[in-house]
Amino acid sequence: MEAEVLAFSRHRIATDGEGVTTLVAFMLCPLSCVYCLNPQALSLKSPHKVYTPEGLYDELKKDELYFLATGGGVTFGGGEPLLRHGFIRRFREICGQAWKINLETSLNVPEEYLEDVIPVTDGYIVDVKDMNPEIYSSYTGKDNSKVMRNLAALAERGLAGKCVIRIPEIEGYNTPDDVRRSVEMIQRLGFENIDLFKYDIDYGKRKRDLQGT
Ligand code: SF4
Repeated sequence: MEAEVLAFSRHRIATDGEGVTTLVAFMLCPLSCVYCLNPQALSLKSPHKVYTPEGLYDELKKDELYFLATGGGVTFGGGEPLLRHGFIRRFREICGQAWKINLETSLNVPEEYLEDVIPVTDGYIVDVKDMNPEIYSSYTGKDNSKVMRNLAALAERGLAGKCVIRIPEIEGYNTPDDVRRSVEMIQRLGFENIDLFKYDIDYGKRKRDLQGT
């Protein structure tokens, strides 16, 4: 079993999970966000490394003392980490229970991918973009029906408290009123930890231009 990894970011503090974390950005994503923050992750033509779960554990364990001392661990992002559900399950078997495993995900994947990792995941950072299907598809190029199903699955399993739902305001795509409607829908589903922020489209544009997409 192998997975393509774009990059690591070590020694992150309280940015994507408790304690000190290492962010692992996997390659590939089902979405094509207009201002993608990681356009290099969207094509395997971009430089990347390939790891087995064992190899990745060897790479990350140099920070184990930080993880254990602070209640931190690994955050899998990308790209879309749920495309690597089998890899993440195997990684948990190798790293044991002491490391936290968080996922930074769009949830736009088949429900069985999510089901596969629920037993090994401590926290979810879910970027729902906007809950309005038309806004969502105009920004990502995909519909959000899988996102809705997976949000409902997390809520039904009583996991809403383990989730942070990120809702960006994206200039040219949604308005403060759209954001408010998304917040209301998310709250009705039972989620309370909501991260609202204004998306830096200039940063996204620069990344896109650099990548030539
Ligand atoms: S979900 Fe993230 S990685 Fe995927 S296209 Fe959107 S911004 Fe890029």
